[in-house]
Amino acid sequence: MNAVTQNKPATRVVIFGGTHGNEMSGVSLVKHWLQDPSELHRVTFAAEPFLANPLAVEHCVRYIDTDLNRSFSQELLSACSSEGDPYEVKRAREIYKKFGAKESYDFVFDLHNTTSNMGSTLLLCKADDYLALHLANYLQCNCVDYSFPCNVYLVDVEERNNVYLQNIGKHSLSLELGPQPQGVTRADVLARMRELVNCSLDFLDLYNQGKEFPSFEMDIYRVTSRVDFPRDVDGEIEGFIHKELQDRDYHPLKPGDPIFQTLTGDEQSFDGEKVIYPTFINEAAYYEKKVAFIATEKVHQVVPALRVQC
Ligand SMILES: [Zn+2]
Repeated sequence: MNAVTQNKPATRVVIFGGTHGNEMSGVSLVKHWLQDPSELHRVTFAAEPFLANPLAVEHCVRYIDTDLNRSFSQELLSACSSEGDPYEVKRAREIYKKFGAKESYDFVFDLHNTTSNMGSTLLLCKADDYLALHLANYLQCNCVDYSFPCNVYLVDVEERNNVYLQNIGKHSLSLELGPQPQGVTRADVLARMRELVNCSLDFLDLYNQGKEFPSFEMDIYRVTSRVDFPRDVDGEIEGFIHKELQDRDYHPLKPGDPIFQTLTGDEQSFDGEKVIYPTFINEAAYYEKKVAFIATEKVHQVVPALRVQC
């Protein structure tokens, strides 16, 4: 592939932490950078740290009224505001006004943790965000850590249905690092998050300075469906993540492999027709969303070369 994609420079860069107030890597890093942002300075730009949900951070909870990272739909953002709106909906409008809307930032990072064994998950919302794909490839090649390997993850949603904070920028990447319990700071996860952010800013700096990044191919895990726990007639969970599935995020799950087990010794196996790659297995925050794990398919993608448009 000879074509070179050209994009504008990425000089307005924001790093959100605390979008979920109990995901501590982003909370700790952004609080630190608000005190001393020098680590976020590069030759061509200085990234801005921003604590997305300060009230949830103060209470060390995921959210106060509703999930902030599901509050960026066009419908919610454009609706008339009223006093009774949930805290996070008001906050989403403030954030959108500052970093999105007409003066949309060039690159948005959103820092998250997961209780699942997801390593360094690089989450994109647009399959054609070539700048973010090149960044993900750069991290896979230049920011290697076998304890927290990089996997590229695509939540492929239509623009108008996108409810995620990261979508307010022209380009974006969320980092989902785990496993880490809610409300807990693990030094290894914290250091890994910090390394990934610094490496990402290095990439954007090289890009802004005119470096051309060649075409490449990569595997992407694309979300296909969300799978709920088995439930009884009252809606109570009666089957738990099987011990052989626990911590096996990104490993192939074949038809017939066990996925749930009950207290009475019953097992439920995967009844799909082809191999899937489960992710967010047993994620604590997804119990309320009725999600036991998220199924993905592995997609091979060719990404064209990229350089900045002067
Ligand atoms: Zn989160």
